[in-house]
Amino acid sequence: MTITEIKQHLSIKEVLEHYQIRPKNGMINSPFHEDRTPSMQVFEDSDTVRCYSGNCPQSNKVIDVIDFIMYKEDLSKHESLLKAK
Ligand SMILES: [Zn+2]
Repeated sequence: MTITEIKQHLSIKEVLEHYQIRPKNGMINSPFHEDRTPSMQVFEDSDTVRCYSGNCPQSNKVIDVIDFIMYKEDLSKHESLLKAK
């Protein structure tokens, strides 16, 4: 499978469900740092998330499903792709 195909088959919703993260009003607590109020917005139409917290190592970056798995599990891009498959 190509990266594009993997992304097409894996929605951000499925990834969040895998980690038992449930969005509230499209927002979640950022899993990449301590986050008391939800700083991360979920974009289901583009299957990406974005964190607005200044404490976030990935602050204001558009994060897709592969990046999400990579940062969440501290994997390389390659490992993350294998996991996403
Ligand atoms: Zn964050």
